[in-house]
Amino acid sequence: MIKIKEIEEPKKPIPILGIMKGMGMLSKNLLKKPVTVQYPEQMPEIQDRFRFRIFLKLDDCVGCTLCEQVCPNGSIKMEHLDRDNPRNKRKIYPDVNFGTCTVCRNCEEICPTVAIYLTHEFQTSRTKNSFLYSPTELAMPEYEVKK
Ligand code: SF4
Ligand code: SF4
Repeated sequence: MIKIKEIEEPKKPIPILGIMKGMGMLSKNLLKKPVTVQYPEQMPEIQDRFRFRIFLKLDDCVGCTLCEQVCPNGSIKMEHLDRDNPRNKRKIYPDVNFGTCTVCRNCEEICPTVAIYLTHEFQTSRTKNSFLYSPTELAMPEYEVKK
């Protein structure tokens, strides 16, 4: 025979206790500074370990495709770019889709020439519906990238 566990009835809450708890929490937080800021008028404080926007040093990229291979979600694709670079004979460079990038830093860690790396930059908002950065855009400072 199957034993059915008896379930205890929940205790009835005492309304005044909940109100007092809420008031206590409110008074504790009343004098604290807000954790939010009025962005973009006010810039948030960026922690040292924070990383987001990926940069690419075109002259240092040897087109080895390691960054593309190690990216766990296909956010990097190699693109042909016709530029003079004796170190990159195949003339291929990575692009990055920031819409899918999870900031795992695999690409930075595997790059043999430190050509690709993540920075503190986080303001990558765009008006066009694409977060795909071409190799040339990755090499530009963010304010020069066409939004
Ligand atoms: S960025 Fe680095 S890992 Fe990626 S293709 Fe260039 S050299 Fe290779
Ligand atoms: S940080 Fe990670 S997810 Fe983003 S492009 Fe590099 S490897 Fe891909």
